[in-house]
Amino acid sequence: MATAVSSVLVFGGSFDPVHCGHVALANRFCELLQPQQLRIIPAGQPWQKSALTATSEQRVSMLRLAFENWSLCQLVIDEQEIVRAQQQQPSYTIETLRQLRAELGPDTCIHLAMGADQLHNLHTWREWEHLFSYANLCVAARPGFSLDLSAGAVRDVWKQRATSAERLRSLPCGGTLIEPDLDWDVSATQLREGLMRHNPAIRSLVPVKVLDYLQQHTIY
Ligand code: ATP
Repeated sequence: MATAVSSVLVFGGSFDPVHCGHVALANRFCELLQPQQLRIIPAGQPWQKSALTATSEQRVSMLRLAFENWSLCQLVIDEQEIVRAQQQQPSYTIETLRQLRAELGPDTCIHLAMGADQLHNLHTWREWEHLFSYANLCVAARPGFSLDLSAGAVRDVWKQRATSAERLRSLPCGGTLIEPDLDWDVSATQLREGLMRHNPAIRSLVPVKVLDYLQQHTIY
């Protein structure tokens, strides 16, 4: 059944665990693009990563805590990739976008958000050229990863499709956007290591409620 929203910011990831960089990225793109809905899609079985440490249930619980007070738009934590993984199917973004487009209809603006590290991987994603038929692609800066692509097919396509945030607000798919101002030097890998070593420095990198959860449950 079609959901009556005209624009959605889609944000996928492992979220193992969710951290302040994730929240800041969602926040920034929601400010820029003013979607009616933020759709967070935790990966079930990332095809490019080894097995996740936290269970799907734990990752979803932490996401709910991290976004508990979200007020910029409607929030949906969409478990479709987790469900597909339970059916032994991998998490391809193209399949997720096809499902979203079928659900939301042709006129809804679908913005797919990601960090700069993913821009460099994009050419390895299944059917990457077809992502633009379903969504706008929005990349935020991430410390340690350049926003400039060296020569290659992705760079050319990206440049051809580059547009402004204002234009994307009414574009259902096909555009690209770079947000250069995000500056959160944090990764889930760094957090998992910090948690294992009881390093107090991680405290400022995780939403408070997620930190409480992590202290109650020995996951990492
Ligand atoms: P890991 O260290 O386990 O690889 P991660 O910190 O990269 O995890 P993911 O859940 O894999 O987190 O990332 C989900 C999305 O969030 C990806 O698009 C990623 O690029 C983006 N992202 C993660 N951390 C940041 C950050 N610090 N700044 C900007 N984007 C980020």
